[in-house]
Amino acid sequence: MDEVLTAALRDAVFDRLDYLDRLAGESDQHSKAALADTEIVRLTYAFRALLAEHSSDERGRCKQCSGWLRSRRHPCSVWNIAHRHLLTGS
Ligand SMILES: [Zn+2]
Repeated sequence: MDEVLTAALRDAVFDRLDYLDRLAGESDQHSKAALADTEIVRLTYAFRALLAEHSSDERGRCKQCSGWLRSRRHPCSVWNIAHRHLLTGS
């Protein structure tokens, strides 16, 4: 992916996250309930897909973070971040 497309992808994702943050923080209760109905499912689906990409292979290494020359033990940083934010709330 070239730099322009990479920047467009990054900006689009961060813009969407910013939009969701604004809705969650500034909208009324009815809008927040509607947001929860639609966006929580999308976010958990995305989170599961991301975690699946970073699952362990048969040798206990992250499939995505391990490369040809270097292996990364599972859980990788993606799983550690998920655990920290989903379970410890920090
Ligand atoms: Zn990983």
